[in-house]
Amino acid sequence: MTQAALPFLPLKNSVRRVESRELFAHCPSCQKKSWFKYRGLQRWSETVAMACGLPTTMPLWTCETCHTTVSESSLRI
Ligand SMILES: [Zn+2]
Repeated sequence: MTQAALPFLPLKNSVRRVESRELFAHCPSCQKKSWFKYRGLQRWSETVAMACGLPTTMPLWTCETCHTTVSESSLRI
């Protein structure tokens, strides 16, 4: 599973107030403790979600160190 290969879809229902949300976590891409910026919710169709064993919505975060966008499930906080 490659974290960096996640497709980033335009967010229809993005909410302004969550844009400043930040998170400090271990980055699965650069292997460093880093701040992450909230990017919104990734949505998949039911079919894709079931095939990947994922929920249909997944919060996405961007690493401030390596600028990789990862799904919340791959972060170790
Ligand atoms: Zn990183």
